Amino acid sequence: MNWIAIGQCCAFLVCASASASNKPTISQSASRPYLDLAAWARTNSLRMVWETNGRDLMLTNRSLRLAFALNSRLAEVNGVKAWLSYPVIPRGTNAAISLLDVQTLIRPILTPVRYQAPRQVRVVALDPGHGGKDKGYETPNYQEKTHTLLLARRIRSLLEAADLKVVLTRSSDTYVDLDDRVALAKRQRADLFVSLHYNSSGNGRAEAKGVETYCVTPAGATY
Ligand SMILES: [Zn+2]
Repeated sequence: MNWIAIGQCCAFLVCASASASNKPTISQSASRPYLDLAAWARTNSLRMVWETNGRDLMLTNRSLRLAFALNSRLAEVNGVKAWLSYPVIPRGTNAAISLLDVQTLIRPILTPVRYQAPRQVRVVALDPGHGGKDKGYETPNYQEKTHTLLLARRIRSLLEAADLKVVLTRSSDTYVDLDDRVALAKRQRADLFVSLHYNSSGNGRAEAKGVETYCVTPAGATY
């Protein structure tokens, strides 16, 4: 085993010789397994190109475009921003990505068939955000709580038409604790819990648009 010091504070425990094999070697940084990104790209037939700034890098094939930046958790998958659990880090003249991010974010995108839902979805819990005293985002003519409930009712009718059972965490303008919403979904044995919100930013200015999706972080991840 070799210890290689990177930068001023990171250290890698190299478990096997990386250069002798095309197979990406797992190493440790801050007690966490990392993969050599260039070796991983080769084994997955991805072309890896560094930007001239020496910080940003791109992995591409015919259908996939992955963008990373050194010391950053922010990545892009085919133009869609995605947050990694851990930053991509420098490794000598190369870069390394956490094994957890490869397993839980990148690989499911590369090989989606293997990650199909293990069970059929029958019950969906729809959670209209806010309600009652909690108005959510509001302007003089708009309250988020009103529109999340309208959206939930609309989605419910679409899902019921598709033969799914739907439960709402609230069906009127009432305040429901977050814990109670989750408990209700568990009692109803919901396969999916979908919380509906209309997010805002920048004091009402249209600085952001599109859809923002939050996922439960993988077990053991810091973020
Ligand atoms: Zn909200």
